[in-house]
Amino acid sequence: MLNLKLLGTAAGGGFPQWNCACSLCHLSRSNPVIVPPRLHLQAVLSGVGPERFLINASPDLKFQMESYPPLHPTPECGPRNSPVSGILLTGADLDQVLGLLLLREFQPLRVYATALTRRILEANSFFRMLQRVPGQLTWAELVPGQSFQIGESIVCTPIPMHGGLPYYADSLRRGGQALEDAPANIGLLIESGGRRIAYTPSLPQITGELQAIYNACDLILVDGTFWSDTELSQTHEGTPLARAIGHIPMSGLDGTMDLLRSVSRPQKVFIHINNTNPVLDPRSPERRIVEESGWRIADDGSEWSWNG
Ligand SMILES: [Zn+2]
Repeated sequence: MLNLKLLGTAAGGGFPQWNCACSLCHLSRSNPVIVPPRLHLQAVLSGVGPERFLINASPDLKFQMESYPPLHPTPECGPRNSPVSGILLTGADLDQVLGLLLLREFQPLRVYATALTRRILEANSFFRMLQRVPGQLTWAELVPGQSFQIGESIVCTPIPMHGGLPYYADSLRRGGQALEDAPANIGLLIESGGRRIAYTPSLPQITGELQAIYNACDLILVDGTFWSDTELSQTHEGTPLARAIGHIPMSGLDGTMDLLRSVSRPQKVFIHINNTNPVLDPRSPERRIVEESGWRIADDGSEWSWNG
């Protein structure tokens, strides 16, 4: 048994983004039936047993949890409880960790993170709200390549990714500490009952090793932040290129669809879609190219489930 549910699919800022009047954000505000709004990327994982695991903790987590009954507390278990047994962090970007602060109500939490992600969060005084009483927060260290079990049936293996630190944590690098061997950004290989999912929402490069991992999967969820390298800088002057901020664009030579052409076994799905990405409009030529190339754009609410 393996189940993965997406409660949001958007990159940082969500869709539409509060300060964005680009044609797509405008279209989503004026015609949400055709171009639906999207919450920040948030995944929920479950296997055999009642435990649920969050992959990252989005700024929209409160609404996402209330919209999904399997994450609700059960009255039979007493006044305070939660089926959430752990939170797996694939990075320390604000859109991946802000939701942790919403889970601060004295609830015991088990957070899986690399040593560097833990260091970044512990350097921020806000996160002390998760450690107000003994046993409130338990850390489990993620080490790239080292598999570990969650719940009764799921085995996870962190996939090393490179890429920079979040802007707010850059002082750790300026402090001269050696961080190159201890990534914050990782992917996750998730296995249960012979099924495999690769969860890679932030993809600065695609190595041969990663292609081999993808080819052994049933489902790959892949960084779909940008359609093109220049998309952000064309929409908002002075902003960086996609590759410069750790995201391979979907299209073009050496884009994700090009690099993963030969990966044919799994279902190939894009997640983490930025508000500037033209694939957000289901009528766009870019969306057609994605679908004709054997890919799919995930929706808020998309779900995959395997029994056995
Ligand atoms: Zn926009």
